Amino acid sequence: MANSDLMEKLVSLCKRRGLVYQSSEVYGGLGSVWDYGPLGVEFKRNIKELWWRDMVTNRPDIEGLDAGILMHPAVWEASGHVEGFTDPLVECKSCHRRFRADEVKDQCPICGVKGQFTPPRLFNLMFRTFMGPVEGEAAQIYLRPETAQGIYVNFQNVLNSSRQKIPFGIAQIGKAFRNEITPGNFIFRTREFEQMEMQYFVKPGTDQEWFDYWRHERLEWVKSLGVRAEKLRLHQHTREELAHYAYDAYDIEYEFPFGWQEFEGIHNRTDFDLSRHQERSGKKLEYFDPATNESYVPYIIETSGGVDRQMLVVLADAYREEEVEGETRVVLGLKPELAPIKVAVFPLVKKDGMPEVARKIADDLRSRFPIFHDESGSIGRRYRRQDEAGTPFCVTVDGQTLEDDTVTVRDRDTLKQDRVATSKLVEYLSEAIG
Ligand code: ATP
Repeated sequence: MANSDLMEKLVSLCKRRGLVYQSSEVYGGLGSVWDYGPLGVEFKRNIKELWWRDMVTNRPDIEGLDAGILMHPAVWEASGHVEGFTDPLVECKSCHRRFRADEVKDQCPICGVKGQFTPPRLFNLMFRTFMGPVEGEAAQIYLRPETAQGIYVNFQNVLNSSRQKIPFGIAQIGKAFRNEITPGNFIFRTREFEQMEMQYFVKPGTDQEWFDYWRHERLEWVKSLGVRAEKLRLHQHTREELAHYAYDAYDIEYEFPFGWQEFEGIHNRTDFDLSRHQERSGKKLEYFDPATNESYVPYIIETSGGVDRQMLVVLADAYREEEVEGETRVVLGLKPELAPIKVAVFPLVKKDGMPEVARKIADDLRSRFPIFHDESGSIGRRYRRQDEAGTPFCVTVDGQTLEDDTVTVRDRDTLKQDRVATSKLVEYLSEAIG
């Protein structure tokens, strides 16, 4: 399958199965924003919940936070975003389309005219809006371009209200906004997206050790989602690539259909952020170490991932087409924990009392797993719809069910069908789903 085909197939599968729709589609769409449908929202929640489980719930050294999207504008001055969160922008003098200077050469990719770009000017990627009823410079605030700053300005609050000692981390999942010059590649680069970020506060001098630790942890986490190792790699930033706050940085990259690209960054931000906020706010953001009686501004190791990009990694990696009995079977081979629907329940045919039994089983399972219940159409078609939605198990009520109270459980990947007593179904599925 050609790579461009795979992207097209993913976009169309996502729309067809209710994973992702274009924003405001009835009005012609808003190109850089996507909406998550019934299955998409479940899938996205599963990714976020696994991240939260592994980064917060299961770790004694990390606390959670949910800071506001809107923050005091001084935050973004101190962080360097007002001054430095820019991309070089050029405009084609012929068609007036704008591009990131590093993404075009001499020729306009839209109208094809050569040598007609304006000199690059710096374009700030932060969205601006106004707080309160008066629109003026004094009321101007920003939509956050990263969740990290909400963590830094709450460092002392969390320290004082939890019983953490350094090293410890604060984690947050939330929306971020960037007025990207050239959004694209479906949910890869959008103007509204979600981040899963964790800031780990460490003693200066131990930062390299923690940087190495988190790089390794995060790569292993992505593999634990079932993503193929050979499609993953780490890329260390060169001097030119480093962001204004970073001393050292690695990207975790995936080989997308459009090439190797970052979907998570591990950054050594040193004491840049806390020092800047301490200096600008005049509030102490130091840590007092009772063991040594010394105070210092901690260094920060950041793990910064995009929820939407992580979804695209998993989707692209899980998509496969197989020839079965002369037909193409499209499968999303999602791990059961990530699958939006865990179990589908069908009667083999819509008669002979089978629908009633299937309905009863569906009702019994509903409170335990996200399930889907479907009665109409051929059983083959119903199975195929679930295969491409990534549903790992299909339970079917057939003639034998009415005689001995057993059902078949079909495995999406092996296509094997097990006969299971209905009384043992919950146990069987719980074990298989994990
Ligand atoms: P890029 O170089 O692709 O613009 P970045 O280096 O600016 O990304 P970071 O600032 O490190 O990205 O952001 C951390 C993570 O947030 C990224 O790895 C990505 O998963 C996500 N992210 C950043 N910008 C976007 C965007 N416009 N759309 C979707 N996700 C994004």
